[in-house]
Amino acid sequence: MPEPSRIVALAGDGIGPEIMGAARELLDRLGGFEVEEHPIGGVSIDEHGTALTADVLAACRGSDAVLLAAVGGPKWDSTDPDAPRPEQGLLGLRKGLELFANLRPVRPSAALLDASPLRRERIEGTDLLVVRELTGGIYFGDRGRRDGSAYDTCAYSADEIERIAEVAFRFARRRVTSVDKANVLETSRLWRETVERVAGRHEATELEHLLVDNAAMQLVSRPAEFDVILTENLFGDILSDEAAMLTGSIGMLPSASVGASGPGLFEPVHGSAPDIAGTGRANPLAMFGSVAMMLRYGIDRADEAAAIESAVDRALEGGLRTADLGGDATTEDATSAVLTNL
Ligand code: NAD
Repeated sequence: MPEPSRIVALAGDGIGPEIMGAARELLDRLGGFEVEEHPIGGVSIDEHGTALTADVLAACRGSDAVLLAAVGGPKWDSTDPDAPRPEQGLLGLRKGLELFANLRPVRPSAALLDASPLRRERIEGTDLLVVRELTGGIYFGDRGRRDGSAYDTCAYSADEIERIAEVAFRFARRRVTSVDKANVLETSRLWRETVERVAGRHEATELEHLLVDNAAMQLVSRPAEFDVILTENLFGDILSDEAAMLTGSIGMLPSASVGASGPGLFEPVHGSAPDIAGTGRANPLAMFGSVAMMLRYGIDRADEAAAIESAVDRALEGGLRTADLGGDATTEDATSAVLTNL
């Protein structure tokens, strides 16, 4: 028997505990996991006065993978700049685990092609992965205000670009589309040069460069032609939300954040949905997709990841629709539909 995979489960706030409960049923069914639950976000603020304690971060560091549901809610919203905030838990994890690569797959399920704001024939066949640099660029550069003006600085080192480009080439099946603004920005010219150099080590994979404005357009005009989209922090933030809309509902989208070594963080893209928390109506499918990403990219159990994804597709083909998809299935209905198809 192989050793069980050690998972830290962070349910968080709002619908977090409901969808984490669903994920735990799925993990129990698959077997081979040792799961430890810890508080994060608002519940951790209530218990410990901080969104992420040093003990929880240490437990995450010692695990094989971290599965997170969602944090935040009106209870902890405050205009006091010194009040602890649930989101600090997420930022603390990204920084503490050195998660520099954010991966967001976009693969609209065949049964949901008509739920997208784009026409079916535009999105049919779309199966892309956005690889976004997560710990550099303008989000982390020097900023401030001086004499009535404000500035934010975008800086990237060749090493930071090289390591994220390696991730993109590792996941590409046929092509990496590198997105930048090399006609204007110096960081983008270094980005392009560095990505070219990394591409030289991956000759079987095609490389194309797109300017970000053109990429934004092509993402809606020919989404099915993309494979891996590689980009920096700010462009990635915007393009991954644009790509997300191709699938129809935020309740469907998983994500992964990974570093060079150590455990990755796997979580749905959506938040804690306080408006439906406690009603039993949360869609658990983004959470199931996040479990699948954890199995594929976090702990090397890719066959089971594919099994989860096809069980979700079959449940949707069988008519499963939670409220966010226009139906009336509960979290429990959705969980048993997926488990039945697994
Ligand atoms: P949200 O994603 O929580 O909700 C947006 C809308 O989508 C709501 O109407 C909600 O009911 C619906 N929705 C979201 N997930 C759903 C699901 N699984 N099933 C059915 N419907 C779903 O975004 P928001 O309302 O802007 O934020 C709510 C709280 O979540 C805030 O405190 C915010 O800071 C936090 N947040 C956390 C994360 C995270 O934990 N990664 C991400 C985004 C927002």
